[in-house]
Amino acid sequence: MSSQEHPLGISFEFFPPNTDAGRDKLIHVRDELAARNPRFFSVTYGAGGSTQARTRDTVRSVSQSGINTAPHLSCIGSEKAQLRDLLAQYREEGVDSIVALRGDMPSGMASIGELRYANELVEFIRTETGDHFEIAVAAYPESHPQAPNLDRDVENFARKMQAGANMAITQYFFTADAYFHFVEKARALGVEQPIIPGIMPITNYTKLARFSDACGAEIPRWVRKQLESYGDDSDSIAAFGTDVITRLCERLLDGGAPGLHFYTLNQAAPVLKVVDNLVS
Ligand code: FAD
Repeated sequence: MSSQEHPLGISFEFFPPNTDAGRDKLIHVRDELAARNPRFFSVTYGAGGSTQARTRDTVRSVSQSGINTAPHLSCIGSEKAQLRDLLAQYREEGVDSIVALRGDMPSGMASIGELRYANELVEFIRTETGDHFEIAVAAYPESHPQAPNLDRDVENFARKMQAGANMAITQYFFTADAYFHFVEKARALGVEQPIIPGIMPITNYTKLARFSDACGAEIPRWVRKQLESYGDDSDSIAAFGTDVITRLCERLLDGGAPGLHFYTLNQAAPVLKVVDNLVS
């Protein structure tokens, strides 16, 4: 860790904007967040490679901040030759970290591709590029929605760590115990690498509820009821959301979480309120 790095080991995720206004805004967001000295930025990748060019452009733009920037890369629906080309391009451009995922099949895509699961993608990256890339993978404290149960999912998680991942970033969650329980299970299977909690700020209840249903993250009843009661009073939602997420982060850090990875949704203010609460 450099002496400059934020003491809590924070990192921030962006998605590739698809308008000029979105790209301009992201430059400001990037600069505001870079000022907090994160360990790294990451940039998501659309299902089936649908944002391949935009992810690369965004990585290029975000990394101009001087902060190490990791593209996400998913394997489902891709052939090895395509993945090999993309890895070579990233390498040429000086990228040395990747978030390696299986991803989800976009509707209408016919072929699964040559790699079926993230552990196979991690293996592929190691075979093709040795130790060049630092690799992060995804973890699901409340279980991946397609897994039959948490035990099976943790076994699959351990498989991708054993394939050569350096660290994991979790899906977001609102119950700290789910994270601690997951970490304990992973450690029991011999996983020693850092497992960094993914943190989603609360800013919009309707969107959060829809997204949480899809990715299997549970919003606790007391949080849901409170958010519902605010209707479209966005100031109250933001204030309550900041409080809930700050307490969650405090519990995670007190319990030994090795950093925090924030899903920014390309907005600086909601995550900065939490980050600044944590150090004040
Ligand atoms: P895997 O680890 O392959 O797991 C998928 C499912 O298969 C799980 O149910 C697992 O238990 C099971 N499984 C795994 N390995 C095996 C095996 N060898 N045999 C049998 N079953 C197995 N999506 C995007 O489209 N773009 C992004 O940029 C993106 N970024 C993300 C970042 C993070 C930190 C997280 C947590 C998720 C992200 N996602 C992203 C979502 C992710 O693509 C989906 O959750 C996807 O369904 C699973 O990807 P995975 O890499 O976790 O898959």
